[in-house]
Amino acid sequence: MRFETLSVFPQVFAPYLDESIMGRAQRRGIFEFCAYDLRDWTHDRHRTVDDAPFGGGQGMLMKPAPIFEAVRAISAMHEERPHVVFFSPCGERYDESAARRLAAMDRVLLVCGRYEGMDERAYELADETLSLGDYVLTGGELAALVVIDSVVRLLPGALGDEKSAEDESFSDGLLEYAQYTRPANFEGLEVPPVLLSGDHAAVRAWRRRSSVERTALWRPDLLEGAELTEEERAWAREAAKGPLGEGEAEKAD
Ligand code: SAH
Repeated sequence: MRFETLSVFPQVFAPYLDESIMGRAQRRGIFEFCAYDLRDWTHDRHRTVDDAPFGGGQGMLMKPAPIFEAVRAISAMHEERPHVVFFSPCGERYDESAARRLAAMDRVLLVCGRYEGMDERAYELADETLSLGDYVLTGGELAALVVIDSVVRLLPGALGDEKSAEDESFSDGLLEYAQYTRPANFEGLEVPPVLLSGDHAAVRAWRRRSSVERTALWRPDLLEGAELTEEERAWAREAAKGPLGEGEAEKAD
């Protein structure tokens, strides 16, 4: 898969994408990355990408011309046209299902705004516009990194362990179950005994219940879209009544 970004701060991506799992995935050829500098498509001495908004108001807007020229030029650089993503707080909310959709694509161009945003006509170039959430960032670069990171970890081989992306929050529409590592007793805080039992079926059942209960408690909105049995719906109703506590282990018996 090939990711490209278009922004006025092309140098901010590499420090993150060259490290750790993203760095390894690039070296293994699981994804390619290229950051383009929007100023390369300006024609004045100051390489101007912004201008004052018509109608007045604070701040500066990104001019349409460099964005149109850049997206057209970048699109023509490879045989396959990229899927073009813009970012804006007004966009559609980015989530794991959007990540899965993008992970099936071969080439994605992420166009990052700055300042007060972009001239509205630039969005003509977008195949889709995404928002990370209901808050305002100073630029789209962080949004692009979030998208790249969350998509790359879904690509086969990126995590090393093929299973790990399958068994996580949102992979089945629910939050992930509670997890523990050594020691089994930390300052009196005990790990649920079933996890130490070596009984794989019991562990699976406990984890499923933990997933359902945590989702009911923390993200009840997700339950509507989840496939639950009658018994699981009953667990969810019970959990919705109060915080999860020590009872969690016993309840799964
Ligand atoms: N004036 C705009 C915000 C511009 S912020 C408004 O009120 O809607 C500048 C840039 O940061 C945007 O063009 C976009 O690329 C990025 N950005 C800001 N908030 C974002 C969010 N919640 N999700 C994704 N990108 C965001």
